[in-house]
Amino acid sequence: MMDLEEFRKQGHELVDWMADYFKNIENYPVKSQVSPGDIYKQLPDSAPEEGESFPEIMNDFKEKILPGITHWQHPGFFAYFNANNSFPSILGEMLTATMGAQCMIWDTSPAAAELEEKTMNWLKEMLGLPANLHGVIQDTASTASLVAILTAREKYSNYQVNQKGFSSDEHFTVYCSTETHSSVEKGVKIAGIGKKNLTKISTDDNQAMNPEALETAIKTDIANGKKPICVVAALGTTSTTAVDPLKEIAAICKKYNCWLHVDAAYAGSALILPEYRWMIEGIEDVDSFVFNPHKWLFVNFDCTAYYVKDKEALLRTFEILPEYLKTVSRGKVNDYRDWGVQLGRRFRALKLWFVIRNFGVKGLQQKLRSHMELAQSLESWINENEDFEILAPVNFNLVCFRYHPTHINDEETLTKMNTQLLNAINQTGNFFITHTKIKGKYTIRVVTGQTNVEQTHVEKFWKLLISCIKDLS
Ligand SMILES: *Cc1c(COP(=O)(O)O)cnc(C)c1O
Repeated sequence: MMDLEEFRKQGHELVDWMADYFKNIENYPVKSQVSPGDIYKQLPDSAPEEGESFPEIMNDFKEKILPGITHWQHPGFFAYFNANNSFPSILGEMLTATMGAQCMIWDTSPAAAELEEKTMNWLKEMLGLPANLHGVIQDTASTASLVAILTAREKYSNYQVNQKGFSSDEHFTVYCSTETHSSVEKGVKIAGIGKKNLTKISTDDNQAMNPEALETAIKTDIANGKKPICVVAALGTTSTTAVDPLKEIAAICKKYNCWLHVDAAYAGSALILPEYRWMIEGIEDVDSFVFNPHKWLFVNFDCTAYYVKDKEALLRTFEILPEYLKTVSRGKVNDYRDWGVQLGRRFRALKLWFVIRNFGVKGLQQKLRSHMELAQSLESWINENEDFEILAPVNFNLVCFRYHPTHINDEETLTKMNTQLLNAINQTGNFFITHTKIKGKYTIRVVTGQTNVEQTHVEKFWKLLISCIKDLS
């Protein structure tokens, strides 16, 4: 077993390794190139009887584990949405791991609870969210949306589903657009409402929810004896970063007395830029809001910011109070175990605090603006080249496009060519891109959002794309 002096020595070496990792990160293939089972079969079938030295373990990490890692912090990571980290965030995580505090209630680490409250208030102000929202850190946006759906369920059942289970006269319904993240459907299923009671509302040409279709669906359901309890609006959908018209949706929710939850998991970070505040016109009427600092605000996964207006409804839904958790501070402080699903909680506010302080609001704004500019560069090159087409508005830093030479109009051929193109690019190891489908069209997605991505990376990507086209069969 490692003693204190050995820990000190190995720790210093490890930090050097970490710094070198970032220095050399572009030498690694961004997407891991291993085949299924490659990693598993290299590892012994049973745990070692005798302890092994840290250098031995570290060696295996470098030789056996690292090849199976996809390097999310590589600036050529253009896939999905980024899950960024940054130096202050990593240092914060090291301290969190060192203290190993389990922050379920205020008493188990008052600083964790109070720093969480403070940083959630900072973020609320940074994003221009209403002052009457209460913030709490959740593990993921999926959990936060589940929390919102469960809270709506309890509020509209007068807190009876928690007590008795469904009585079969609730007839609850939930709404989101066809483009909304799968976590909403998952949440509806887990909450016992049932997938068939989730209506997916059609979208317009920009993949944003049709508010008229929402109102029609709600009216029809009410006429059929249903009780609409929750609408989820997306600010920045996963496929194309489409922005649902919040103001219109909020007015509908108000009219029919529905909980309005906003999923801004990715694009919520852009609200730190005043030029993006148009997205939250109508925010005063929102019941809950989620965004992920762990995606595009340079805070290590996991760190999800969840805001709720009716704190009492949230607490009544999730509160537990066994004898062994009763404290004298109860009622005077925030016991965050009552603000969500899990009991045990990591000290996540620390890394968030480090990031906000070290970047400063201006530093964060500058990063985000630079990422938007990179996407705009790529968009302009695509627009100038008649063999390519843009398939969705570039609202933030995601570019959706495909190769589409003018003489080819057969969808099947286009899909085949673009699939080939995507694979060719990923195989170079210099970039990792993914795809989606927009109204049936195979679409390449490029997100220019890694912490350290720069113009040179996007230029190199464009050159590679052009050269890969020549090899298409
Ligand atoms: C990424 C994403 C999610 C899921 O986020 P997790 O934190 O991984 O659960 C939900 N909604 C949208 C719009 C997303 O982009």
